[in-house]
Amino acid sequence: MKVIIKELPEKYNFIDEERIHSILVNTKPDKIKIREILEKSKAKNRLTLEEAATLLNNEDPDVWEEIYAAARYVKEIVYGNRLVLFAPLYIGSKCVNGCLYCGFSIDNPHAIRMTLTKEELIKEVEALEDMGHKRLILVYGEHPEYNGERIAEDVRTVYSVKKGKGEIRRVNINAAPMDVENYKLVHEAGIGTWQIFQETYHRETYKKMHPKGPKSNYLWRLTGLDRAMEAGIDDVGIGVLFGLYNYKFEVLALLQHTEHLEKEFGVGPHTISFPRLNPAFGALTETPYKVSDEQLKHIIAVLRLSVPYTGLILTAREPAHLRRELFKLGVSQTDGGTSIEMKGYSKMRERKKADQELDKEQFKINDVRSLDEVIYEAVLDGYIPSFCTSCYRAGRTGEHFMEYSIPGFIHNFCTPNAILTFLEYLLDYASEKTKEVGFKLIDKEIEKLKEVNPKIYNVLLKKVEEVKNGKRDVYF
Ligand code: SAM
Ligand code: SF4
Repeated sequence: MKVIIKELPEKYNFIDEERIHSILVNTKPDKIKIREILEKSKAKNRLTLEEAATLLNNEDPDVWEEIYAAARYVKEIVYGNRLVLFAPLYIGSKCVNGCLYCGFSIDNPHAIRMTLTKEELIKEVEALEDMGHKRLILVYGEHPEYNGERIAEDVRTVYSVKKGKGEIRRVNINAAPMDVENYKLVHEAGIGTWQIFQETYHRETYKKMHPKGPKSNYLWRLTGLDRAMEAGIDDVGIGVLFGLYNYKFEVLALLQHTEHLEKEFGVGPHTISFPRLNPAFGALTETPYKVSDEQLKHIIAVLRLSVPYTGLILTAREPAHLRRELFKLGVSQTDGGTSIEMKGYSKMRERKKADQELDKEQFKINDVRSLDEVIYEAVLDGYIPSFCTSCYRAGRTGEHFMEYSIPGFIHNFCTPNAILTFLEYLLDYASEKTKEVGFKLIDKEIEKLKEVNPKIYNVLLKKVEEVKNGKRDVYF
């Protein structure tokens, strides 16, 4: 079914640029005020745009340390020490847009254009299952071929692949905005989150960065997730490509987008992503708005404090040492063993390490470690790597997900499910060194639960035995 793209009237715009600029100019980073705001967010309250701006405008490094400490605290009380793992899977590099920053741009004559055939897709999924992955995000360029039917068919194929004890239990999508009818087709195939990054919410910059193709339609993209929600997809992910425009403006715009979704649909975005502009083949990489490592820390900490219940996604665009530091500030999901090359995972078996070939990829990534290496380091840092997909499959999504997360249900469901899925990983896929540290972590976490929730603890012990005896996909 062809996607019908519309020019929308201005009333659809919910980003108030003037208000954002005025808040940023008029908000002073008063220390006493900042401490009040930190107390408010430590009580798990959402922040207003003004409050988020007060934090963003702070220039005192000691006060930033206080803000980071509050972000770490909020992460711990809302999410515990879990880190959810996924892998991106690039399905199609054909694209009709001319995004200046992207290697898939129609204006890049060197890009290798291809779409995975069903057989190639199966091979990629098998390779991902052999690594231990359970959650994928399928990524597409924007092209008439990649309509609802095609994406739904890919989703069904992914779910059908079972290799050894492996299976994919949650498929998310990062593709162009659709119309409601096309979204419905994908929704029926059973997806988790649909992600669309606005790239920049600043209209003038958006226009410059997207000179041609359907993506040049700012309002069509801005309202893309409203249509997804209308089609019944109640888990949606928003994001900004940091480096295109002023990062403080973009953070406040992300919050305005969040408020819009909450107002219209009673539920905010499931996740927020904050990719930074990385080098891409033949594309723009230098801009006046480059975000430094320190500024990226500011962005993550302020988002963590502003929207305590929204998942924050950090990807392999960032180097390993920095990811380690950023996880602590509030990241809840990350990728591991990543390849963004077309047919990259099946090839990785041959080359072991993911050396990049930029003409086949959208941009450069900075962390090419295997999933096992990412997990090993995460365990050393005290995280429970989680492959949990239970909320989505038990109907705890969208509005319901909020009900569960707000009164602290996350600890009752997520921690035990993280333990169970990590145990599966250790038994089926982990290296010896990861097993060694991993089993110890699991024992420690189970003991912790004994104190916190004896009822769940007893059920968990039974479920752990089931997994050890070979049963898979056991969850709360
Ligand atoms: N083509 C679809 C779209 O544009 O919405 C699908 C997503 S695209 C393949 C995934 C995301 O990668 C984009 O939304 C953009 O934020 C990000 N991206 C593009 N070029 C990038 C670059 N040079 N560095 C880092 N991220 C980039
Ligand atoms: Fe195409 Fe997406 Fe790249 Fe833009 S960012 S050129 S739409 S793949």
